[in-house]
Amino acid sequence: APDSSASYLDRLNAAQRAAVEHGLDGSAGPLLVIAGAGSGKTNTLAHRVAHLIVRGADPRRILLMTFSRRAAAELARRVERIAGRALAGRPDAVSGALTWSGTFHAIGARVLREYCGAIGLDERFTIHDREDSADLMSLVRHELGFSKTESRFPAKGTCLAIYSRTVNSQTPLATVLRDVFPWCAMWEKELRALFSAYVEAKQAQGVLDYDDLLLYWAQMMAEPALAADLGGRFDHVLVDEYQDTNRLQASILLALRPDGAGVTVVGDDAQAIYSFRAATVRNILDFPTAFAPPARVLTLEQNYRSTGAVLAAANAVIGLAAERFTKNLWSERETGAPPALVAVRDEAVQADYVAAEVLANREAGLRLKDQAVLFRTSSHSGPLEIELTRRNIPFVKFGGLKFLDAAHVKDLLAVLRLAANPRDRIAGFRVLQLLPGVGASTAARVLDSLATAADPGAAIAAFTPPARAAEHWPAFSGLMTRLIAGQSPWPAEIEAARLWYEPHLERIHEDAALRRADLVQLEQIATGAPSRERFLTDLTLDPPDATSEAVPPGRDEDYLVLSTIHSAKGQEWKSVFVLNVVDGCMPSDLGVGSSAEIEEERRLLYVAMTRAKDTLKLVVPQRFYTSGQAARGDRHVYAVRSRFIPDRLAGFFAREAWPIASPEAATAARPDAPRIDIGARMRAMWT
Ligand code: ATP
Ligand code: MG
Repeated sequence: APDSSASYLDRLNAAQRAAVEHGLDGSAGPLLVIAGAGSGKTNTLAHRVAHLIVRGADPRRILLMTFSRRAAAELARRVERIAGRALAGRPDAVSGALTWSGTFHAIGARVLREYCGAIGLDERFTIHDREDSADLMSLVRHELGFSKTESRFPAKGTCLAIYSRTVNSQTPLATVLRDVFPWCAMWEKELRALFSAYVEAKQAQGVLDYDDLLLYWAQMMAEPALAADLGGRFDHVLVDEYQDTNRLQASILLALRPDGAGVTVVGDDAQAIYSFRAATVRNILDFPTAFAPPARVLTLEQNYRSTGAVLAAANAVIGLAAERFTKNLWSERETGAPPALVAVRDEAVQADYVAAEVLANREAGLRLKDQAVLFRTSSHSGPLEIELTRRNIPFVKFGGLKFLDAAHVKDLLAVLRLAANPRDRIAGFRVLQLLPGVGASTAARVLDSLATAADPGAAIAAFTPPARAAEHWPAFSGLMTRLIAGQSPWPAEIEAARLWYEPHLERIHEDAALRRADLVQLEQIATGAPSRERFLTDLTLDPPDATSEAVPPGRDEDYLVLSTIHSAKGQEWKSVFVLNVVDGCMPSDLGVGSSAEIEEERRLLYVAMTRAKDTLKLVVPQRFYTSGQAARGDRHVYAVRSRFIPDRLAGFFAREAWPIASPEAATAARPDAPRIDIGARMRAMWT
């Protein structure tokens, strides 16, 4: 039998070890580990899962949920490494055995696919990403005539945001409008009609959107027999980053294990940064009493990630938060250099500075992979991306434009989606309108006939297109008939679709050659997927963040990480740069409506700072380019350092300026140096 003092346990501190060994000698009641950044929560979770497996738990009966596919894969890898060593004689017991790990949404999609018979769902359902959802919302809105009669009716994206918020927070529409979208409150009646028609359209077409994956799953769990059936398939349910779950997710967890047996969640209320998606920090704060037996609550107090100086500054920043449950952490690591506030003239110089520093760090022995550049909004890295490209510094960007947002990638996927579900009108419109001579009305006629046909393949073959579309029709209908009938085995199917699509790609896009490379990548991803359905689901739910991530650079390749702060959650690097630490960006202009929003922006800065192990540079451009405010137009404004680092915290930071200027110039560039001396001017008026 494995030794309970297995060597991996010796690496843990007492509180971590208590979490790992919780409830092993009997049935484990609910457990909450709530602690600050870098205290080893995720590491503890990995050890707990590994330990459960080493002690004989069946990995196929462990459900492990995280916030991104990347995080899930990383966690599973860690579990396999830890347990694999302890079970060296039985590698098959661990490797690839954690079959139920993923995001809430991905697990939801899988559960719904398995239980569709029991809940009256067509098993061929396809999943809409946000853009598809917005397109369908727009289509429905158009059909209801709201877009024509009232030009001031909220845009499709706003409608979708209101809908999503209402559904995910399980709050009445009127309340959501009043609290979050007051400028749309006058449209309550119309929005209600719109959402009702939107739901009907989704059902008629056999499509689910992101929110439906949780909503349907939660509804399914409200049926005791189904909840018991699904819950009975797991002995342990573990969730990382629990502070960023919403009410639906909490209700699913509760229904899975009503007595909380085998439930472990870990998180940090100071890192709650997803309330704009209806996540609520109440979930983690209410967890201790959410189950019939109250949960055991463990806190971790030692930070293993950051140097003393980095940790002190991060603690100071979050120390100014209005409310917080987790306590400050301490670190045994060396003090290290204080984080720097680096003044630069503007964003162009900021890009120059970061690129130069990254290279200097590499000269000093850091790999590019040990460094990351974080920013509030994806667009903030634009100038830096140009600079890195100019200097030939390889990078990967997370949280930016997704691979799937590219039109040509969406086109090809739409072909597969239409084959999987011929009632999916958004996919159908997209594909059909690629054909010269096919407009919206012809497309609608084709889709109508597909929706009602017993054999959609035959329906498409029998359709007579208008003469102007006749040239390209046979190739299309031949392809669709074959795909719908499942005549090409997966993944040959995607190649058939690509070969059909390529002439259209060349006709539509001037840069077809570049785009064709993406399609080849897509085909490579497809080869790794067991079926069309899994390929479409995985890709839609958790698309690769960047084109370059779709097929990640080789193991040996070195690259710099560029990431939004949201996408950097849970990760760490030796050296971290944070761009645009100025008011307007942090907090964002878009996030200063309420004090709750400002607090969330403060937590974002805390998340960014706590990603750093050794060095942290917060860059403060003195001038900043704002855009988007239509009324004011795009313009440069003088920026001020983020209000989250007020003067009284100055002692935690070092001041730097770049480029390092002559002594006089440096004084002039110091962020706090007065730009003009009004006092002197006033005095001069009288002399
Ligand atoms: P976050 O809140 O940012 O997600 P976390 O609490 O999940 O952070 P981890 O990522 O698990 O923290 O751990 C942070 C770092 O500390 C990792 O590099 C991890 O390997 C290390 N670490 C955790 N526990 C220990 C320990 N007992 N001894 C040594 N190193 C540890
Ligand atoms: Mg973590």
